[in-house]
This record gives sequence, structure tokens and C-alpha cells, in this order.
Amino acid sequence: MLPSCVRVIVRDWLNANHIVLIGRQRTVLIDSGYGRDATQTLDKVSGVLAGRPLDWLVNTHCHSDHMGGNAAVRAAHACRVSIPRDEAPLIDAWDEEALWLSYADQRCERFSFDDTIAPGDEFDWGDLHWRAIAAPGHDMAALIFFCEEAGLLISGDALWENSFGILLPGPDRVTRLEATRATLETIARLPVHTVIPGHGPSFTDVKAALERSMQRLAAFERDELRMVRHVLKVMFVFSLMDRRRLAVNELDVYLESVPLYADFNRRYLGLDRKALADLIVGDLERSGAIRRIDGFLIAA
Ligand SMILES: [Zn+2]
Repeated sequence: MLPSCVRVIVRDWLNANHIVLIGRQRTVLIDSGYGRDATQTLDKVSGVLAGRPLDWLVNTHCHSDHMGGNAAVRAAHACRVSIPRDEAPLIDAWDEEALWLSYADQRCERFSFDDTIAPGDEFDWGDLHWRAIAAPGHDMAALIFFCEEAGLLISGDALWENSFGILLPGPDRVTRLEATRATLETIARLPVHTVIPGHGPSFTDVKAALERSMQRLAAFERDELRMVRHVLKVMFVFSLMDRRRLAVNELDVYLESVPLYADFNRRYLGLDRKALADLIVGDLERSGAIRRIDGFLIAA
């Protein structure tokens, strides 16, 4: 399905997929996964490189599951590191709230970058020609990478087979919703044959994927509280995967200790400790996303 110079290492939800582009001139890695699993990431990427050095690491956007291995990859390969242009101020300032780090109980080793990529920039990666396209919404600074000759789209968290990355509620909600719609419409206009998403396997039924995402987007447009609940649940499952488990009897104290949950509860929900815990965990247990075993919650 993919040209031999394009190698996709499909990971999970804690780690974004790695896309390795192996060209005659240089090798490029798109996205470095989550910091906790950086050793695994280095092994997997080295396996695909088969002895070639890694020349260049590029991020679709700066969330912990996409940039978490940046420091380790750079240390191991002494490669060039490029991030989307509009992420640079957040990375320079290492803004833990805007980057969803300690604010959301996520971790990422701080890294330095060499330069930035702007929408419209073009590259030869893996002997194919790629163009960076702005993909704001989930992350207002995100980029996607399109290769017209092969009909390939590296979509990051802008489009997955069944959805897209979380959208934050709040004062910029409408801007984010409109940007997400515009990004999906941009993708719909591109002659894409195969999408290589940030999470999940590559897929070719782009039209159906866009329809599912548009439906989800419409539901978010109708109901801000739905966005709130969705963010809380997705962030909680992420942290559960990161921590591997959480004691049920420490849940309410945990939720109070993480600024994101406390903030969201104060701004949108106004629930007591137990009700907040029930809201987040109840739905996730019912849907089978998390399980309760011997007094601990684990991600299913
Ligand atoms: Zn993301």
C-alpha cells in the first residue's frame, strides 16, 4: 500500500505513530512518541533504519505523545530537529499549561530544536516531494504533510480513521471548531489516496473518515459540555496508560491534584469530588475503555 521508502511504525494511544522516510540523501523521522517509552522508540526506529543514521526529526505538532521522544532521539542520533513554526514560542517558553504537560499530568523531557517549518514549505523526504499544510484545530499550530505524487497524507492528530484529536472548550472554542472544520475541508480537497494518521493504522477510505469526523465536530458544535466531558475522559485514559494504574480510593485526590480536572470542574461542571470521579470513570467503565481490578483502575 505504501512506497518502500515510507515506513510506518504503528504505536498506540500513549505514543503517536512514527513515520520513517528513507531516501537516498537522508532519513527523516516524523514524531517521536511519548517520553516514558523513548527506549522502545529508539529501538523501533533503529530497526527500520537498518544501520542508516537518522538525519532529521520533524514533529507534526507539539503534544507529549508526538514530541516526547525528541530529547532522546536527538541525543542518540545528533539529528536536526524541526517543529511547526507556530509551536516555537510555546517550546521556547516550555509552557506547561499550553503544552498540556504538568497541567494535564503528562510528562515530556525538554528538548531544543534547530529550525521551524511553516505552512507551504516543501521538502524531499524519502525520495518523495512533500508539502507542509496548516492543520489548526486540535492544535492550532499543527501541520500535516502531503505528498501529491503518491497521494499520501501524514495527518498527525488532524484526522484519524474514526475521529481526530481532542478539542478544548473555553473562550477560543468557536475558533477551534471553525479551524477544525476548515482543516477537514482542506483535507477533503486534496487528492489523498492513503492517510498515515498519528494514531492507528493507515487507511484509504478518506471520504468515510472525513464524514465521521464531521459528525463528531457537529456534535461538539452543538454542545460545549460534550467537549468538556470528552477532554476529561481522553486525558484521564492517557494518564492511566502513562501511570499504568491508579488506586480507586485515590481517584478523587488525584483528580483534585491535576490542574486540568480541577480547572474544568470549576469552570464548567461545579461537581463535588465524588461526582466528578463518577462522571469521568463511570462512562469509561461502561464503554469498556477502563477496567477496575483489585481496587485499581487500568486502561483496557
Ligand atoms: Zn495531539
